[in-house]
Amino acid sequence: MAASKGDDGDRDAAIGQLADRLLSADRAVAFTGAGASTESGIPDFRGEEGLWTRHPAEDLHIARFREDPGAFWGTWLALHDAVTSREPEPNAAHRVLADMVRAGRLDAIVTQNGDGLHQAAGTPDDAVVELHGTFRRGVCMGCGATEPMADIVARLGDGEAPPACTACGGTLKPGAVLFGEALPVEALERARDLALACDLFLVVGSSLVVHPAAGLPRIAKEAGAALAIVNLEATPMHGMADVAIEGKAGAVLSALAEAVDDAASPR
Ligand code: NAD
Repeated sequence: MAASKGDDGDRDAAIGQLADRLLSADRAVAFTGAGASTESGIPDFRGEEGLWTRHPAEDLHIARFREDPGAFWGTWLALHDAVTSREPEPNAAHRVLADMVRAGRLDAIVTQNGDGLHQAAGTPDDAVVELHGTFRRGVCMGCGATEPMADIVARLGDGEAPPACTACGGTLKPGAVLFGEALPVEALERARDLALACDLFLVVGSSLVVHPAAGLPRIAKEAGAALAIVNLEATPMHGMADVAIEGKAGAVLSALAEAVDDAASPR
């Protein structure tokens, strides 16, 4: 395995190897987690500033939503505040991945994030698979219609709790997958198909501990793909990675884009 923990020479070598694998791959897929968005100012899952450190899982469980949707929305507003109301911008990692999709070097981006920053960076909607739903919309528990989160938040501000679906009057739930909820079947199936069919699976900014999403790298690897991991710290899957680079997603992916351009352009 090519691995780098910070030594510049090692890191350059590992980035060079990853660039070669990307250039020779017929089908490459990126898989992103909360670490891809921390450089946009959105806290990740578990660190000191971690969203779920401040909002424990039981507060964000579907059972609590069913029990008292009005109170649940009160908790959700605090989370919404931390994630979307600061109007985060895509960072270098989102931009590099979007460029790679547009250049045909990546087939798709499977993401655990609900912040919409891959799309904001220019990745076409149909090339982003949102495994854990979206923070940007609410969904009706009755008819499945969706509404923009900004509208829902405005109505919550006017005292409408829980907010009702404008189509059928049912109860609106955040569009993100809550603890205790199943992942959207279509997204999970598409992600599995992509993992099975790719020859390079590139993880960016994920602790790889949240299942079933965290099972995708193993699925890809066992189906014959090379596994590359770019993350600030080691993950439980580092042992099976072909390339592992410990560093910030923005800097590492920017260097990767340069290495790919250098290797691809005629000398
Ligand atoms: P996680 O928080 O469990 O792990 C994030 C990983 O990224 C950590 O290992 C951390 O060391 C690493 N990291 C942090 N900043 C980084 C950077 N700049 N560059 C590279 N790596 C960096 O996240 P997860 O694996 O995605 O699982 C968390 C769950 O929380 C997911 O279900 C996700 O839906 C949700 N979540 C989403 C967002 C978002 O939409 N932006 C934010 C927080 C949590």
